[in-house]
Amino acid sequence: MLGPPGVGKGTQAGLLSRAIGVPHISTGAMLRSAVEAGTDLGKKAQDIMHRGDLVPDELVTAMVIERLSQEDAACGYVLDGYPRNPAQAEALADALGPDCIELALTLDAPEQELVARLSGRAEEEGRRDDSDEVIVKRLQVYKEETAPLIDYYTAAGRVTHIDGLGPVLEVFGRMVEALAT
Ligand code: AMP
Repeated sequence: MLGPPGVGKGTQAGLLSRAIGVPHISTGAMLRSAVEAGTDLGKKAQDIMHRGDLVPDELVTAMVIERLSQEDAACGYVLDGYPRNPAQAEALADALGPDCIELALTLDAPEQELVARLSGRAEEEGRRDDSDEVIVKRLQVYKEETAPLIDYYTAAGRVTHIDGLGPVLEVFGRMVEALAT
């Protein structure tokens, strides 16, 4: 799943994974657990995440490859938050083969909607990486580092755009429709 922070990737990835019976693998959630558990990875990632920057590619890629090698991912997975830049996409393809990403479902929404959603989430969930300053930073990192992935996967003929505006189940319906065609 591709798309900017706040577009609803996590929610939609969760619904999709349950619908098709494959694990939902969110690198943001895995990193947050590592921070909470105080692991070596968590200690390295903590400050970077709180600033809204990207955790170094090699750390996240090693974590993802290990996770994808587990038995429950043998028949597929919904990746949420990874790859985050073209270098990660290439590292994953080198490790697992070019078909490890079959489809890049890309959720779209205007930036003002994203900011409103992220500010709301900061209050509801108390996510420290959703403060105003960090929201701006995360959107900037998305534009500079992650958005080029859309071109990367478009060139490979793997992108399907989904309108991310509207009620959760309406957006999910659009995803199901896109997957069925
Ligand atoms: P997310 O929940 O996907 O928005 O991720 C929260 C934070 O975790 C990001 O702002 C990054 O600091 C870090 N993160 C998650 N996925 C990655 C990744 N693939 N590469 C680097 N950092 C990541």
